[in-house]
Amino acid sequence: MKPYTVAVRALCEFTAKQGDLDLRFTPAPSAQEGIEGHALVASRRPAHYQAELALSGQYQDLLVRGRADGFDAQLGRLEEVKTFKGKIERIPENHRLLHWAQLKVYGAMLCRAQGLAEVELALVYFNIGSQQETLLCERHAAADLQVFFETLCGRFLAWAQQELAHRGQRDEALSALAFPHGDFRPGQRDLSTAVYRAAQTGRCLMAQAPTGIGKTVGTIFPLLKACPGQQLDKVFFLTAKSAGRGLALEALHLLKKSVGKLPLRALELVARDKACEHPDKACHGESCPLAQGFYDRLGAARAAAVTVSTDGLLDRGALREVALAHSVCPYYLSQELVRWSDVVVGDYNYYFDVSALLHGLTQANQWRVAVLVDEAHNLVERGRKMYTAELDQASLRAARLAAPPALKKALDRLHRQWNELNKAQLSPYQVLDGLPLKFVASLQLLNSALADYQAEHPTEVNAALQVFYFEALHFTRMAELFGPHSLCDVSKADTGLARAGSVLCLRNVLPAPFLGPRFTAARTTILFSATLQPMAYFADILGLPADTAWVDVAAPFEADQLQVSVAAHISTRYQQRQASLPAIVELMARQFQAQPGNYLAFFSSHDYLQEAAALFESLHGQISISKQTRRMTEQEQQAFLSRLTPDSLGIAFVVLGGSFGEAVDLPGKRLIGAFIATLGLPQVNPVNEQIKLRLDQLMGGGAGYNYTYLYPGLQKVVQAAGRVIRTVSDQGVLHLMDDRFGRREVQALLPRWWQVAPGGRS
Ligand code: SF4
Repeated sequence: MKPYTVAVRALCEFTAKQGDLDLRFTPAPSAQEGIEGHALVASRRPAHYQAELALSGQYQDLLVRGRADGFDAQLGRLEEVKTFKGKIERIPENHRLLHWAQLKVYGAMLCRAQGLAEVELALVYFNIGSQQETLLCERHAAADLQVFFETLCGRFLAWAQQELAHRGQRDEALSALAFPHGDFRPGQRDLSTAVYRAAQTGRCLMAQAPTGIGKTVGTIFPLLKACPGQQLDKVFFLTAKSAGRGLALEALHLLKKSVGKLPLRALELVARDKACEHPDKACHGESCPLAQGFYDRLGAARAAAVTVSTDGLLDRGALREVALAHSVCPYYLSQELVRWSDVVVGDYNYYFDVSALLHGLTQANQWRVAVLVDEAHNLVERGRKMYTAELDQASLRAARLAAPPALKKALDRLHRQWNELNKAQLSPYQVLDGLPLKFVASLQLLNSALADYQAEHPTEVNAALQVFYFEALHFTRMAELFGPHSLCDVSKADTGLARAGSVLCLRNVLPAPFLGPRFTAARTTILFSATLQPMAYFADILGLPADTAWVDVAAPFEADQLQVSVAAHISTRYQQRQASLPAIVELMARQFQAQPGNYLAFFSSHDYLQEAAALFESLHGQISISKQTRRMTEQEQQAFLSRLTPDSLGIAFVVLGGSFGEAVDLPGKRLIGAFIATLGLPQVNPVNEQIKLRLDQLMGGGAGYNYTYLYPGLQKVVQAAGRVIRTVSDQGVLHLMDDRFGRREVQALLPRWWQVAPGGRS
């Protein structure tokens, strides 16, 4: 049998980590600082120093491997470098123990590999701020290190054997897994085949597939089938919204149920604020009882959790039960369980964000993973958001008010730099030529001062300061990664007051340089949605590899199920909005009278919606209407939709691109038509105009307009219209209310199965 491979760090974390979970607001070096710190230490060593020494060792079925930071053969000294900020005494005891454990394991493997009788072990603590090294040295005999190594391996071995057995059973069961519905729905087989092929060839796949064909099962099933052959360690099912997570869990439940018992561990990841049991406490042992002694109880919780998940799914509820039964934090338990799960269901940000957990673990453990991106059209905006950083001068002001005297100098310096920027700004919104370097330098100094202060006062909680610090850290990180993919812009606060200040933004326009490497880190990534047209747009913006495959699954619907008309006599352009209202209202009333039933009417804004609804009510008060309001809660949205029943009649006025424009399922008589009184184009404003300009520069060929306005707009229209026909027996009407819907380039972006009635009055 192939040995079970484990990284040194993972072995030590599993077997030697004890005590409290401690995620106090302690300053930690960024990944970049860590890399630079290691490089600096290595550069101070003599030429014969061997940096990044690959070592491995075997114990029964266990293969342990890793890279020691450096070995000086002349001194006989093996080094492990740890970077830190603040005072060395602040490094928690359980962290130090873990560092020693790692070094001893490396020491054992080195002695064995080089036949050494003993070795000097040096733990090198490198202070990022002062750039000074503190060496803690111990001499160890090879025999003692070997005993230590075998002890840790022994503790891990039973778990490793269980993992190997699980993997064998899992792969055997997945090889035999049959499609849970007996037969595929029309189109579903094409989708599944394309997904399976992509996994086999290790490529990315963009899959455009209409609603109603069972995309979730149609993608998870073939990937699970591909796991044994492709030796996939994990499948990550990533969603933009929590509703998508629910669908994925349902599909997994269905698959498990279809075979009685499927040895597949599936885990749901939820956000910290949703999983936290003590929102009034902080994540360390002195504050939260579920953090106290967390690592001492983690082993039992972990063992219980993997047992649960052989029978059921480790969704939020099941995970909470296990966590509370063992008095550990559910959120941090779920992070630990990623390592031992076969399928992980969570938000996009767990894989695509700047320091995403799933991506980090994939890299560190060299997992072979398959990534499913549900409703992938959302990744454009979500990706941009992840790599955008914003700093508000109002936050700095609040931090200054709340700051202790020790931080005043650094805060004032940044404040002065900020005011300099404001003075140089002539218009309310301005894109800078590049990064404001003096400002960024002041921000970095402030970050260091904040980090030092926090290290000195670990128990002090200052909310305003912390909020600003986290924003400043993200801003600094994005400043380090700044490039043509982003704009650096300043927006003056719109208050008319000179001291109101401004908002500085590193605004990502093109997430491709950040997302691209995430696609290549996976064996395969499947991006699926009902609207991924045009492919080149998504491929360019998201940074998909050149060999990405594409499948456009034909809709199972017939053209005569949906009567599509263009109201070419209406213009919804901003200047013509008032003039458009009577025609819009007249058309809606005429359609309703001809065919009473439930309709959705989409508008580009709340104001437009209100104006249209007011006129409609005044002229056709006998027809029942409902209106979406600003900032509806999830319950209010549910209540709004639940009023559309098979027996109700009326028109629901909603905003395009809002909560009712996608992921809303109203089959049969619950919805028989839609009016779309907008082309969906994002507002023309200074920010969007700059995005257009930058995309023109980056993409060439005048892509800016289409990529900024037309494609995102039409994508929303098609999503909204997709609410009408949900099943092969649905019938409905769709009125596209704007003359521009008659244009050839616009119609080319509509689904192929629609038959749009020729222009003219609809
Ligand atoms: S329960 Fe909440 S406060 Fe406690 S460790 Fe977990 S996330 Fe932190």
